[in-house]
Amino acid sequence: MEPYHQQVYRLKKLQSMPILFGQIVHRYIEQAINDYLQTGKAPTVEELIQLGRGQLNAAFIDSTRRLDFWRQKPNKYYMMQEIYYHGTLSPELVQDYKERLRLVFNHFLMSETFQQITSQKGSLRIGEPEQFRSMKVEDVQVFVVMDFHYYDELRDKWIIVDWKTGGESDDDRQQLALYAYYVQQKYRVSLAQIEVYNEYLLTGKRKKYSFTDFDMENILYTFQRSVLEMKKYQADIFSNEPVDIEDFEQTQEKWHCRGCNFRELCVSR
Ligand code: SF4
Repeated sequence: MEPYHQQVYRLKKLQSMPILFGQIVHRYIEQAINDYLQTGKAPTVEELIQLGRGQLNAAFIDSTRRLDFWRQKPNKYYMMQEIYYHGTLSPELVQDYKERLRLVFNHFLMSETFQQITSQKGSLRIGEPEQFRSMKVEDVQVFVVMDFHYYDELRDKWIIVDWKTGGESDDDRQQLALYAYYVQQKYRVSLAQIEVYNEYLLTGKRKKYSFTDFDMENILYTFQRSVLEMKKYQADIFSNEPVDIEDFEQTQEKWHCRGCNFRELCVSR
């Protein structure tokens, strides 16, 4: 029998349609921006849709025909959560996401952010491209996965942009506050020099946020609380061993379970 942690790791790799869709769209947006900065050429919406559709099709094929490959190498193959648990994708869901592809790429190309990139290329300093930016907050290493940030020389502003492929959520502001904190610390700039945006690609809406020192104190406080909460589940702080599975209480809010990757582990508990 395979070790339990391998099963858990594999389930962690399941991707539901909204997550997969978001990843694919982010990947091609990043590529479109990088290509534009290097070549001065922007893709058409049809080109982006075709790329996105190609990846969704690849995910569908892996999920329906390559279960064994995925079991061996969950990192290398796609497995859609809906197909893993229900064997299929509903035609309505497929149709819905086909339409979303056109919407999000259209809105991306028309977005103020992309317009600024194309009109002001010379005066923007694009943030470092590393995938994993990190900072230490009270001895805890925090990875900050920011979509896009740049320095606008003309306005002496740092701009942070987060592309959203789903709906608006109460957590959006919180997430952006952490990015603002990172930029503030890394470049040693004042909060007044930082502008933060959510670009909601389904609707084309752009939302601007600004943060105060009070917001920063708040985000650090929330961060500390959530670190403490997570540490409750650490049996050994040096080896990072978790407590027993029975000590992870199951949620009482059953709607969470519908979209949870780990359902198969929970049924037997
Ligand atoms: S209780 Fe529900 S949400 Fe929590 S792990 Fe189990 S299936 Fe997932």
